[in-house]
Amino acid sequence: MNETMNQPVTVVTGIGEETAKLLQGLRIFSVGDLLEHFPYRYEDYQLKDLHEVKHEERVTVVGTVQSEPSVRYFGKKKNRLSFRLLVNQILVTVTFFNRAFLKNQISVGTELTITGKWDQHRMTITGSECRKGREEREQTIAPIYSVSGKLTTKSMRKYIYQAMNQYGYDIPDLIPDELLKSYKLPTKKEALSRLHFPPNAESMKHARRRMVYEEFLLFQLKMQAFRKANRDRTNGRALDIPESEIKTFINQLPFPLTGAQQRVVNEVIQDISSPYRMNRLLQGDVGSGKTIVAAICMYAVIQAGYQAALMVPTEILAEQHVQSLKEIFEPLGIRVELLSGSVKGKKRAEKLTALENGELGLVVGTQALIQEDVRFQKLGLVITDEQHRFGVEQRRVLRDKGENPDVLFMTATPIPRTLAISVFGDMDVSIIDEMPAGRKKIETYWAKPDMLERVLDFIQKELQKGRQAYVICPLIEESEKLDVQNAIDVHMILNQHYKGQWNVGLMHGRLHATEKDAVMDAFSKNETQILVSTTVVEVGVNVPNATVMVIYDAERFGLAQLHQLRGRVGRGQEQSYCILLADPKSEVGKERMRIMTETNDGFVLSERDLELRGPGDFFGAKQSGLPDFKVADVVHDYRALEVARRDAVKLINSNDFWTKKEYRGLRNYIEVHGVLNGQKID
Ligand code: ADP
Ligand code: MG
Repeated sequence: MNETMNQPVTVVTGIGEETAKLLQGLRIFSVGDLLEHFPYRYEDYQLKDLHEVKHEERVTVVGTVQSEPSVRYFGKKKNRLSFRLLVNQILVTVTFFNRAFLKNQISVGTELTITGKWDQHRMTITGSECRKGREEREQTIAPIYSVSGKLTTKSMRKYIYQAMNQYGYDIPDLIPDELLKSYKLPTKKEALSRLHFPPNAESMKHARRRMVYEEFLLFQLKMQAFRKANRDRTNGRALDIPESEIKTFINQLPFPLTGAQQRVVNEVIQDISSPYRMNRLLQGDVGSGKTIVAAICMYAVIQAGYQAALMVPTEILAEQHVQSLKEIFEPLGIRVELLSGSVKGKKRAEKLTALENGELGLVVGTQALIQEDVRFQKLGLVITDEQHRFGVEQRRVLRDKGENPDVLFMTATPIPRTLAISVFGDMDVSIIDEMPAGRKKIETYWAKPDMLERVLDFIQKELQKGRQAYVICPLIEESEKLDVQNAIDVHMILNQHYKGQWNVGLMHGRLHATEKDAVMDAFSKNETQILVSTTVVEVGVNVPNATVMVIYDAERFGLAQLHQLRGRVGRGQEQSYCILLADPKSEVGKERMRIMTETNDGFVLSERDLELRGPGDFFGAKQSGLPDFKVADVVHDYRALEVARRDAVKLINSNDFWTKKEYRGLRNYIEVHGVLNGQKID
């Protein structure tokens, strides 16, 4: 932004102190802010043929009224007015909410121009505007702004128009001409003008593309610059990895690595032996065998004389990892210890000392690992498993432990590529896209709650074959509001049902660590055949003999989470099953259940989930770490995001970018955002 754009909005004719206050409520302070307050949607006044309009699209149509309008009241203020309208020989219903007053203006035979949203299934237009007679506008698409209080879309249009007139000549363009030309994008000035005063839909979309590209490019430049700065600052601590020892280690494993595992191991080892600090994301679907990859990498680091830490989100998972790592490492004389919230007092103190003086090479833990009193002698590698459970801040604290440890984030949440490159734009990404040989597809069924009896019979049959089952419930306590089955209840019911035949365990987050241990232990030893649990078993738990996963109220979970849960079965040689007990009311809900039954591929699922729910929901709105784009949408504009990323990488690594005049705007932008000073990016 330049000086012209940085002026307060009050320099715009017609905006006084009072209006300026109102605008502040929308976070509009400067002329530039005002010009970049984009419409959040457009009203389309172009007359359309209903045959060509898609479901839920906005339309404007002209028609003649066929029935007297009827009004229904809901309480004092709410009402719905509706009537039949003949539009080019199509008879549709038009409804208006809370506009009962229109009744007097509408009668059979009246010609009306209606603007609203088209519901193709119900043949209904939910109206937003109603005008008498046939009205064809000159400006067929009109911007609608988000406003509040006394501000209206109309006044916003006026202010923006005025600002454009007075200062539009001096809108700076950060994107060099060359790039604009190669993508045939309009200048910033042109784009702003077309977004606010679109001559037609085509031109507006073109302008939007330019702004989307700009937002993505700036964001990616920040990410890439951050990444570069991170690398440049790492001053050459390359671990000396004894390659032949790693090979021997891999060869004595009980199974050969899959091609994907071998590739990822190579990528990571290369990072570890290079002077750069590794910042790598490892994505691999549930059951793809990430643990062994982690083990190999940790082994490599230990052989090079450094320490390695593995961090996980839950105690259960930590303990399980300790167990399986001990099996691998203890025969080789490598100590593996657990450091979690439940390790206290003398034991904890002992382990801390061992970490500090370097006697302990490999530690597995929960959040407790990043507490301040934990010090390492020579921390070389930090691996986090299922890292989406860790906040961004924790990730940073962790990275800052020790002298530039290499960091590997492992996740089974198949993050769609679109999101991965935007959220984790500063990371390298490795993918295990191959399952160990011999895995069977988990058969997934969707059952309505009234089919419970049949589901219980099904479980029975599997148990008789010697298998085990999980039954997952969303909440642990009764909550009338949510009307959710709770684990405690379900446990009681199943206990009753299978009395004298099978033992049913109960696991939930309120249990003490030692109780959880006991429950988990009993299940893995097949002392209990059924485990009723909340989602604490979601990540990582490995009991290969379990072949049935029943999920209560499955509609309450996201697809990614359902997939995680499903991944608890199908870990052995037997055919496994997942049964979703769900009664979703919405179309989206039903669609999600169907998708689950159709695919076992986590990446496909996550892409679909993202489409259905949007990126905020996918990660949980707050945690998403997704930047707030004004115009761009990471889901729908993902192609632009990839293009922008490619361009950003090219720019950051080119000499021209750092020296030539036309890139000064972009360079300044990065600097203002603190990347070059090595600060955290926002
Ligand atoms: P996840 O990626 O979900 O963490 P795990 O690391 O728990 O998966 O591995 C799942 C199961 O697959 C484990 O029982 C593990 O021993 C086994 N496994 C891993 N890699 C291979 C392989 N290459 N061949 C056969 N089995 C493997
Ligand atoms: Mg795992």
